[in-house]
Amino acid sequence: MKVLVIGSGGREHALLWKLSQSPSVTELYAVPGNEGMADIASLVPVKSNEDILDFARLMQIDLTVAGPETVLTEGLADQFEAEGLAFFGPPKAAARIEGSKSFAKSLMKKYGIPTAAYEVFTDEDKAVEYLKTQSFPIVIKADGLAAGKGVIIAKDLEEATHTVKDMLEGNSFGDAGRSVVIEEFMTGEEASVLCFCDGTTVVPMVSSQDHKRIGDGDTGPNTGGMGAYAPAPVMTRELIEEANVRILRPMAAAMKKEGYPFKGCLYAGLMITDEGPKVVEFNCRFGDPETEAVLPLLDGDLAQIMLDCVNGKLTHEEVTWKDGYAVDVVLASGGYPASHTSGEIISGIEDAKKEDCIVFHAGTAKKNGEFVVNGGRVLNVVAIAPTLEEAKEKAYKGVSRIHWMGMQYRHDIADKGIKHLKD
Ligand code: ATP
Repeated sequence: MKVLVIGSGGREHALLWKLSQSPSVTELYAVPGNEGMADIASLVPVKSNEDILDFARLMQIDLTVAGPETVLTEGLADQFEAEGLAFFGPPKAAARIEGSKSFAKSLMKKYGIPTAAYEVFTDEDKAVEYLKTQSFPIVIKADGLAAGKGVIIAKDLEEATHTVKDMLEGNSFGDAGRSVVIEEFMTGEEASVLCFCDGTTVVPMVSSQDHKRIGDGDTGPNTGGMGAYAPAPVMTRELIEEANVRILRPMAAAMKKEGYPFKGCLYAGLMITDEGPKVVEFNCRFGDPETEAVLPLLDGDLAQIMLDCVNGKLTHEEVTWKDGYAVDVVLASGGYPASHTSGEIISGIEDAKKEDCIVFHAGTAKKNGEFVVNGGRVLNVVAIAPTLEEAKEKAYKGVSRIHWMGMQYRHDIADKGIKHLKD
């Protein structure tokens, strides 16, 4: 089977790595991919959705997997389906659960899926009047896609008013902020549950936890994610069941009922509140960096699972997991997240692998035969071990082998999980 993965980050490297272990996979392609994946996949330097479709048609690709959300919100799954080509990822109508926060919230409201109370505004005066009646902190979100940066937690009325004005006037997020969601601030610990979904059946993967802030102890600005671990002990067996019954299954059923069944990876970002798990957000694709921690624990055949999702034949039995834990530490370049450097020579990748770590590439390129920095998040160092503490230790041993000028990373990935296990 020929499989094509769209995207070029650590998530896509993890997808390719796992797909390369499926017995039925004979050829792997990455569009556009990165040089770090070149040992397992052929890199295809095409850019537009039309070119991706042409390539899949020409090469008779048996399964195409979407990494990033943009191709999904643009409707690439629909184009593939129209051509009779298998595509893992939801159609445009279902991808709206990520592409429009107000759409996702209204669907949750309609079907009683637990999430923060909210209102949507396009009119500045009405939004400000509403804010005057609220307690703080309060959460203000640009409705459309904003590359993970469209959420502001405002501590008081002044900051909230300023944020709303900025968004609605199109200053901060362009058209994505022309409509804003104002929602109740929830307190609790966050966890991610990624699910395989075939339009009807939902099978959750092992839970995971991202680390969004740049600094240790969740300090400093937000990033694309500085590391993850799986499973997340905060998601106890009971909470997983509760999320299944109150959130995941009802969401899949709601989308089916509304006429746009979800096929692909349904990502639920949850807040574990005193009242149980509530939805922070839904994404319509694999999370990054959660995928880099989750997929190494998958025992089942990823290519087969994905095909079964596409064909509406997913079973619970085929999604099996290894025992133990995985820890993924993201290595970022100097200046990230405000900016990033590039061109620095990276040393020690092979040494990290000798420490029994997996290294997934994100922002790297090859120059004169050596890997160099080429982005904000550069590498993911992943280790698996029977306990979370051991997995952390092993991952950081791998990290200690890698160097470049300005490299930065968090030192506390998985600490929250380790604390849970000790309590
Ligand atoms: P990303 O793409 O990085 O996941 P996003 O732009 O899609 O982000 P959200 O996931 O909705 O936005 O929010 C980003 C972060 O803001 C959440 O991970 C959470 O930490 C915080 N957040 C969002 N909504 C709430 C809420 N209602 N209460 C408390 N915190 C919230």
